[in-house]
Amino acid sequence: MAHDVYDTVIVGGGQAGLATGYHLAKRGRSFVILDAGERVGDPWRKRWDSLRLYSPAGYDGLPGLRFPAKRTAYPTAGEMADYLEAYAAHFALPVRSGIAVDTLARAGDRYVVTAGDRTFEAENVVVATGVMQKPHVPDFAPALDPRLTQLHSSDYRNPSQLQNGPVLVVGASHSGADIAHEVAATHPTILSGVDTGQIPAGVDTRRITVICFVLCGLAAALAGVLLAGYSTKAYQGMGDAYLLPSIAAVVIGGTNILGGRGRYLGTLIGVVLIVLLNSVLSIMDMPEAGRQIIYGVVIVLMLLLYGRGAKTVG
Ligand SMILES: Cc1cc2nc3c(=O)[nH]c(=O)nc-3n(C[C@H](O)[C@H](O)[C@H](O)COP(=O)(O)OP(=O)(O)OC[C@H]3O[C@@H](n4cnc5c(N)ncnc54)[C@H](O)[C@@H]3O)c2cc1C
Repeated sequence: MAHDVYDTVIVGGGQAGLATGYHLAKRGRSFVILDAGERVGDPWRKRWDSLRLYSPAGYDGLPGLRFPAKRTAYPTAGEMADYLEAYAAHFALPVRSGIAVDTLARAGDRYVVTAGDRTFEAENVVVATGVMQKPHVPDFAPALDPRLTQLHSSDYRNPSQLQNGPVLVVGASHSGADIAHEVAATHPTILSGVDTGQIPAGVDTRRITVICFVLCGLAAALAGVLLAGYSTKAYQGMGDAYLLPSIAAVVIGGTNILGGRGRYLGTLIGVVLIVLLNSVLSIMDMPEAGRQIIYGVVIVLMLLLYGRGAKTVG
């Protein structure tokens, strides 16, 4: 019987197990990650074909290695699986795949982990086996008419597994809502479950804020140049408050009002930008109609930009 000794044994090589391994490796500790799967990331490979993460790539990375995609993109399950595998390889984490842990017990002041005919002894054990290993199927499921096709979401891959006719999807969270959305294209579909609410499509305001800062700097510089030459006219438009400029300021800021994830700081920056734009237009003696058109264009352009961001939602 093989017997290995480590400081720490991590059971499970998903996000939690790998991130724990990263921190232990950084501290030079001896450890091993035991995972039941054949390859790191396998739980993601076994989910349905069209699955996209609900969390954008900017939030999907583990410590030390960003997810290799645009921050606002919604990765596929396969991309997530590949990222986890690449993560383990990148940090040379000692993952031992294909080892399903059976028992964990105390032996004096140490722990003993068994997996088949192997044992692992350690001072610390981190159980990172996740919470989604066992499908929850209601007790009455076997009593339903056997002519019905019944599938748990963990067995669902695509609509071709279903018979023709109506489909009832039970549970309206990520899996249920996603599957119902896909199945509804080919079957009359009812989605049942507690309403979990909706978050409006997000906007990556960080980049917008940076762009606004850059534009702000450019606009301030331009205004400075123009002020130097036309200072007698400069006062005309300073601080004038118009409806469209105000709307444009809020749109540029991209705050929660528009369903963005921005903060009110974004609106403040938008206001600063619009005041500067207003000053520049005043200095240029832009007629009122021209200004309104420019603000309108700014609003439409920013909304189109947000619309593009919103389309990436999976
Ligand atoms: C359909 C679906 C979509 C999801 N989408 C998102 C999303 O978009 N964004 C997001 O942040 N989260 C999402 N989640 C949740 C996400 O998958 C989990 O929060 C995350 O995987 C938890 O990581 P973990 O490391 O704790 O567990 P897991 O990722 O489940 O990893 C557990 C690991 O432990 C191994 N293991 C289990 N038992 C044993 C054993 N006895 N011996 C050895 N190894 C074992 C498994 O092989 C597995 O590799 C989704 C979940 C599902 C089901």
